[in-house]
Amino acid sequence: MHPKIVVLTGAGISAESGIRTFRDPNGLWEGHRPEEVATPEAFSRDPELVYRFYNARRRLLISSEVAPNAAHIALARLEQVFGDSFLLITQNVDDLHERAGSQRVIHMHGELMKKRCSFCQAVSSFDEDLTIHAKCVSCGKEGGLRPHIVWFGEMPFELDRIWSEVSGCGLFAAIGTSGVVEPAASLVHDARTSGANTICFSLESPENRGAFAEFVEGKAGDTVPPWANEMIASQP
Ligand code: NAD
Repeated sequence: MHPKIVVLTGAGISAESGIRTFRDPNGLWEGHRPEEVATPEAFSRDPELVYRFYNARRRLLISSEVAPNAAHIALARLEQVFGDSFLLITQNVDDLHERAGSQRVIHMHGELMKKRCSFCQAVSSFDEDLTIHAKCVSCGKEGGLRPHIVWFGEMPFELDRIWSEVSGCGLFAAIGTSGVVEPAASLVHDARTSGANTICFSLESPENRGAFAEFVEGKAGDTVPPWANEMIASQP
């Protein structure tokens, strides 16, 4: 059975938790151009730089400075109430949805707390800094470990399931996403084509604003909890 509510989250939902969004006004991500650190070519060219970048992202994520915020918690509550009729799809690689209590989460762009072996494809937890000398726990080969992240130019995870779930939903909500990165940005069109209601929550109007029936401007921590409460209160 298809879920009735599908929520797509992006970097903006984690901004109030202390994790910076993708691009700053200079177009840089934590001081780097995305193509310097988030492409397979960057990893082949300069693996040390890519490791340093993701080691730093992981360290921040596990630091005491970062914790789920009210928007993550509100979505976990929606899942508790709506069960199988609720699905969360996130572009985020952080684990703040899980830390807030969400269990039905698709990480379409991968997970920062996991690593993958380029030789045998085994996925394991990323619990210490990666280096070019690190060995895969499954095949024992050295030098092939990479963050379990979908880089630019790579195929997002679970796309067939995502398209199928989005096409069958009754309500599609996007939270804290700029509507620029594809194919996530086009999911709202798939939802609309199938007749779903659509709503977007963000600090600024996203690129794909025109595709949503409703836009709620503001910080996710302020706008999402009242919406979630309303959804819960209005269920028969
Ligand atoms: P984006 O950075 O392109 O856009 C973020 C959007 O969130 C912007 O439209 C901004 O206006 C909005 N925003 C900022 N603060 C907000 C707040 N407090 N409340 C609500 N909205 C807020 O993010 P994207 O669309 O997710 O695309 C970026 C890509 O970078 C994704 O693929 C993602 O994997 C990756 N990324 C992930 C993280 C993370 O895991 N937390 C962080 C940075 C980048």
